[in-house]
Amino acid sequence: MTNAQFDSTRVLRKVRGRAASDGAGVKLTRVIGGPDLPDMDPFLLLDEFGTDRAEDYLAGFPDHPHRGFETVTYMLDGRMRHRDNHGNEGLLVPGSVQWMTAGRGLVHSEMPEQEEGRMRGFQLWVNLPARDKMVEPRYQEFAPDRIPLVRPADGVEVRVIAGEVTSADGTRVRGPIDQPATSPLYLDVSLAPGAAWEHRLPEGQSAFAYMFEGGACLGCGDEARQLASHELGILGGGDLLRVEAGEAGARLLLVSGRPLREAVVRHGPFVMNTKQEIMQAFVDFQEGRF
Ligand code: FE
Repeated sequence: MTNAQFDSTRVLRKVRGRAASDGAGVKLTRVIGGPDLPDMDPFLLLDEFGTDRAEDYLAGFPDHPHRGFETVTYMLDGRMRHRDNHGNEGLLVPGSVQWMTAGRGLVHSEMPEQEEGRMRGFQLWVNLPARDKMVEPRYQEFAPDRIPLVRPADGVEVRVIAGEVTSADGTRVRGPIDQPATSPLYLDVSLAPGAAWEHRLPEGQSAFAYMFEGGACLGCGDEARQLASHELGILGGGDLLRVEAGEAGARLLLVSGRPLREAVVRHGPFVMNTKQEIMQAFVDFQEGRF
C-alpha cells in the first residue's frame, strides 16, 4: 500500500436530498439542513433549486431576515434579483456568486427576474463563529467572468469560487471569496466522460461533494463509492481526493470549511450560539433593528 492510499479521501456516507418548499412556495431539494443531515459544521444548509417550470420558482423568496451566518448563492441558470433593507441590490445571472455575510442582520428578498425558462442553482449556509455573528452585513458578489476557470487535468474544468486549485502547469489559482473564519473551499468541478482528477483538500476541514450532473467515483480505491446525480458524499479519511467520472461525465460541487465546534442554536433564519441570543434576534427584528 502506498502513502497515497493511506491518506486518500473516501465517501464516509451518502445523503440524498429531499423535496422541500421554502420562501413563498419555491420547490427545491434540501440536501443539508433536512432530517437526514441536519448540519455539517460549519455548513448549516444546502439547497439545490432546478426546474424548467415557472410555477416552481415564480413566488420567489419575498422579504425575510437573516442573522448570525452567511448565505452563498451560486446560479447556474436563470436570473434572480436581490434587494435588502440597507439599500443593497444585485442581479444574479448564470455563473455568478453571491457570498452574503448576514452578520448582525438584514432583511432581504430574492426574487426571480424571469417568468419562464430554466432556474437552477444552489444556496449554501455557512455558519459564523460567535465573535463574528454580529458583524456588519457584507456582500462578496462576483460576475461569471470574475470566477477563475482552471484546467487541472485532461477533460477537467474547475470554477474556483473559494479556496485554491493547482492547474496542469502547476500554477496555483485562488477563488475571489475571502472568509478567514472558515477558510472555505467552494469548487464547481466538470469532468468529461472517463476523466480523472486528484485534489488535496484543506487539512482538518469538513468536506462534501454534491453530484449534480452525471456520476463519478470518489476515493476510487478499495472503498470506492459511486456518487450519482443528486447525491451528497460526506468526505473523510484523508486529504487526497481522487475523482473519476463515469460514462456520462460528471459535474459536482466540492466544498469544505473549517468546523467551528461551537454550540449552534438555530431558529429559521437566525443561527446563534444560545437560546437567549435567538430570542434577542426576534426582539431586534420585530423592533426594526435589522
Ligand atoms: Fe435569504
